[in-house]
Amino acid sequence: MKRICIIGSTGSIGRTTLQVTKWLSGMFKVVGLACNRNWMIMAEQVIEYAPEVVAIRDKEASEKLVKLVGEDFKLMTGDEGIMEVATLPDVDLVVIAVVGSAGLRPTIEAIKAGKTVALANKESLVMAGDIIMELAEERGVRILPVDSEHSAIFQCLEGRDIGELDKIVLTASGGPFLNLSKNEIEKATLENALNHPQWRMGKKVSIDSATLFNKGLEVIEAHHLFGIPYEKIDVVIHPQSIVHSLIKLVDSSYIAQLAPSDMAIPIQYALTYPQRYESRSADYEMYEFNNLEFIKPDTEKFPCLEIAIEAGKQGGLCPTVVSVADEVAVNAFIEDKLGFRYIPIVLEKAIENIECGRITDILDIFEKEEETRNFVTSLIKGGLK
Ligand code: MG
Repeated sequence: MKRICIIGSTGSIGRTTLQVTKWLSGMFKVVGLACNRNWMIMAEQVIEYAPEVVAIRDKEASEKLVKLVGEDFKLMTGDEGIMEVATLPDVDLVVIAVVGSAGLRPTIEAIKAGKTVALANKESLVMAGDIIMELAEERGVRILPVDSEHSAIFQCLEGRDIGELDKIVLTASGGPFLNLSKNEIEKATLENALNHPQWRMGKKVSIDSATLFNKGLEVIEAHHLFGIPYEKIDVVIHPQSIVHSLIKLVDSSYIAQLAPSDMAIPIQYALTYPQRYESRSADYEMYEFNNLEFIKPDTEKFPCLEIAIEAGKQGGLCPTVVSVADEVAVNAFIEDKLGFRYIPIVLEKAIENIECGRITDILDIFEKEEETRNFVTSLIKGGLK
């Protein structure tokens, strides 16, 4: 039985991960669960999965949890609590399902503790890709991608000589605004942006899909995860979200991974790797995958894609600045404090005004994160002046 922990268990990926462990009953023991403050969902999870250790970052929320379900487990709070779940002894696999820069520390701690990591958090590789990959190699730790695109590339590359690779091609659904004009996109409301045609995801990732910023982050992630130069990573819009990504080989052959758009599939592969098991996801016949389209992304309409990739190419602290700036901007948009059209403007201003030097230590990243958070918060408060 594989013993697993989930950091960010109450979010969209965390909940699907638990579902998968339930389907594959007898294969997994859920040892630890950690979340930020959603004690109501955590209460349901505690009752259903009986973890030995639970961490809720918010102390008040942890008290509410105990009031509701008792304390038949070891309870921890604060960042230390989260780190403890990420490094529990006798755990084989740690799923990092947290959204945003909060995923970085637990990812690093889990790797340091020698755990296999199933990584759904984009920001850790975006902000600290070099550090994380180096650390993983040093500790002999495997990082298994959970994101559908990276899982696809991972599956296509399996057992292949990297010298045969011409490039990788990440597919993007194009989000809910694919067929709108630039003018229409700029007036988008929260409700429009959350209405993703193919995937049901958390708010942050949904908004990032609507701006295509998400795909820029995924390019940076792929660069680190697979050690592939930026020149060899392409993005193509594929609205049906059936081809989850492709690789192109030097002899002009493309190899792709196709599956229904259901996160349970890549999550299950990360959990059971290198084995495969039957899934509970909808089954399709090939003829149902009709009219698959592949379109060149329009960077005029979706400037965030290039802004993110450019930050990746710059390297150092640049991806941290752009990723944290986006996090703050997207939250402001969700809270109706920033118009959709200003998201790329905020990113550009952050890059322009904040110095992006080299990373000499992990602390540089946390410092830059705070500086960016403060800068962008006051930028938005001041009406972007
Ligand atoms: Mg993705």
